[in-house]
Amino acid sequence: MSEVRVGLVIEDDQDIRELVRVVLSQAGFDVHTASTGSAGVTSARELNPDVITLDLGLPDIDGFEVARQIRKSSDAYIIMLTARAEELDTLMGLEAGGDDYLTKPFRPRELRARVEAMMRRPRTSSDSKSVAEEVDPEVSHNGLAVSAGSRTAVLNGTELKLTRTEFDLLLALLETGRIVRTKADLARRLRNEPYDVGSYVSDADERAVEVHMGNLRKKLGDSIQAPRWLETVRGVGYRLAPSNN
Ligand code: CA
Repeated sequence: MSEVRVGLVIEDDQDIRELVRVVLSQAGFDVHTASTGSAGVTSARELNPDVITLDLGLPDIDGFEVARQIRKSSDAYIIMLTARAEELDTLMGLEAGGDDYLTKPFRPRELRARVEAMMRRPRTSSDSKSVAEEVDPEVSHNGLAVSAGSRTAVLNGTELKLTRTEFDLLLALLETGRIVRTKADLARRLRNEPYDVGSYVSDADERAVEVHMGNLRKKLGDSIQAPRWLETVRGVGYRLAPSNN
């Protein structure tokens, strides 16, 4: 199996761009860089990277719009890098299609840890065994057909364009059915940790899960009041909505 992983760094600050490039190189990536949003969108389309780090404050297009445009053609893991510590920015970044975020200044080892946690999560059927073994390879629930093997979700004959984070959250609910998953549990799941290790989950991590769930709900066309798939258990988390047949 060819195992060249491609990273793309979209960052206008030369020092930070170089720092991130070095971190990704050391993590084993073939790294490309772009210093503007439009160049980043083009590179993302051409290179099909596995991981993208995306600065929110770019000279031409802002990072939110860059993320939206990249998402039209890419399922890369997108880590937003923001100089603005305001939580609203990070949540907007996740809403626009980011998987994770780091606030500048960040420690190189923290970035590396995030990237490596992301890469432990499966991308293709060949490396998805950690997930696939926990759920039937093909599951159907209220008309939504999900394949853990090929990582596809098909609704009314149309394949949904889910990010990997959204797909992993959907799969997590399908695995446990009517058992409620807490936001902390789902945040750990996104780090590919077993949900009983009890590692630290911040409020921001939990709110990130809410944002990803909101995005997923939109793509499914699901309803909060009468859900077919994503049932919110207020103050706790989420579970799979009841089967209606
Ligand atoms: Ca910048």
